[in-house]
Amino acid sequence: MTHLSYTRGPQDKPLLAMTIGAAFDDTVRRFPQREALVVRHQGLRFSWAELSEAVDRCARGLMALGLQPGDRLGIWAPNCAEWCITQFASAKVGAILVNINPAYRLNELEYALKQSGCRWLICADAFKTSDYHAMLAELLPELPGSTPGQLDCVRLPELRGIVSLGAEPAPGMLGWQALQVGAEQIPADALAARGELLQFDDPINIQYTSGTTGFPKGATLSHYNILNNGFMVGESLRLTEQDRLVVPVPLYHCFGMVMANLGCLTHGSTLIYPSAAFEPLAVLEAVAEEKATALYGVPTMFIAELDHPERPRFDLSSLRTGIMAGATCPIEVMKRVIGEMHMSEVQIAYGMTETSPVSTQTAPDDDLERRTCSVGRTQPHLESKIIDEHGRIVPRGQIGELCTRGYSVMLGYWNNPEATREAIDGARWMHTGDLAVMDDDGYLKIVGRNKDMIIRGGENIYPREIEEFFYTHPAVADVQVIGIPDDKYGEEIVAWVKLHPGHSATEQDLRAFCQGRIAHFKVPRYYRFVDEFPMTVTGKIQKFRMREISVEALRLPVAG
Ligand code: AMP
Repeated sequence: MTHLSYTRGPQDKPLLAMTIGAAFDDTVRRFPQREALVVRHQGLRFSWAELSEAVDRCARGLMALGLQPGDRLGIWAPNCAEWCITQFASAKVGAILVNINPAYRLNELEYALKQSGCRWLICADAFKTSDYHAMLAELLPELPGSTPGQLDCVRLPELRGIVSLGAEPAPGMLGWQALQVGAEQIPADALAARGELLQFDDPINIQYTSGTTGFPKGATLSHYNILNNGFMVGESLRLTEQDRLVVPVPLYHCFGMVMANLGCLTHGSTLIYPSAAFEPLAVLEAVAEEKATALYGVPTMFIAELDHPERPRFDLSSLRTGIMAGATCPIEVMKRVIGEMHMSEVQIAYGMTETSPVSTQTAPDDDLERRTCSVGRTQPHLESKIIDEHGRIVPRGQIGELCTRGYSVMLGYWNNPEATREAIDGARWMHTGDLAVMDDDGYLKIVGRNKDMIIRGGENIYPREIEEFFYTHPAVADVQVIGIPDDKYGEEIVAWVKLHPGHSATEQDLRAFCQGRIAHFKVPRYYRFVDEFPMTVTGKIQKFRMREISVEALRLPVAG
């Protein structure tokens, strides 16, 4: 019988059957004096006991606002201590935290707040070029004249109030400090009693998926979903209370709030936030000065750190492990992270928001080839299968759509049963939309998104393969390959190339480099030299934008 592309992860380590609040209290009991959180750009440090005090005070403050289990609480802020405190506090209160992308502008903010029916929003005052207070003033003209908690506005009828993290809350907003003062109204045992009511299968988090097209969908995740995913990710990294993790990835995304915050929470490890948003220099400084043992990042973050001109002056030798994930992890970049950043045990993780997020991960004892070329094997307690267009499991070695099943699959998309049915089938398999291939030992490789596959003259071309090839060119720092419409071949290949500083390469050089090394039909027809790629805040490259820009720049249709 053919060996089918189906695997199941090991089951020896039991899943945590508890709420996030219970897991938090457990860690506080075990490691009260150890460092829990360091926020370098705010100059803040908390032991687990101190963090517990801050979390419980905030939780009581949220109860004083009237937040009930199941109510939605939005958070719209870059990385900061208050984000982490709010995450754990809302979990203790049972309020569903709605992560709002710090880069969202008015329309997207309104959509997320309305779609999730947020009762309260905690927000920063400004971030980069976004003036949050000004945007809220536009969205909610009723705000300045209202009393916090009694907001009544036309566009967001369910919203009751706004807590500002800024030093000066705008009129009608409650300040963060005032929220803490409000905690006095709620005794500690009321919070404990609230904790008793909560169930680990309750929804506790809504994350709007980056969604390259259409409206974002709110992946709804339970305590069980995300606590266990954070736990299993940390187990794979062999985290202990001795570990110190630098977190440059955004907290509003599951890479930050699950893999980092809950990964450390379940192991008593220290979280270190280097900056409000990604800055390569701040990461290098944080690793060296905090003697970090672990570092997370999407591939483009690692590339920026590796290529930073000041990197040689930092001692990164305390690093042991970490995770690269979120997008295709180029083999050459993995090798440099191992060799030049001392992350000998660095792992690749693969997953998506809808699966809490991690579904597969490499292991420290995998050989170098598998640690750099695959996304590892199926995570504990999960199942993976690869199917063809008819939904049948394909033989090992054959490309198809990857599906995931198990504890990590989201409860569904918030208030969107139709989209939920499209994503999760009757047998609870989440259809990822990613194309993958499984080898005989169960290692998976992601070869692209279903929709990113290029079909040129009838040949199926996987951009990943061409990208990996270009990474072996000494002048190429980063590369992304896309398909654009073409009259003759259906699609033509475009490569966007970012060169290493101080290096040069022309279109002709790159074409010549391909000659005889990759099949002629895979050689990109067009090249575009760039300093950056259109990206989401989570470092996900927006290939659809690249397509639009390329089509526009090339003024298609072109002669075949
Ligand atoms: P998000 O829901 O924003 O986390 O995006 C999930 C998507 O990111 C997946 O469906 C994949 O397309 C991509 N992705 C995540 N991790 C990896 C990885 N290690 N290799 C390739 N693609 C990845």
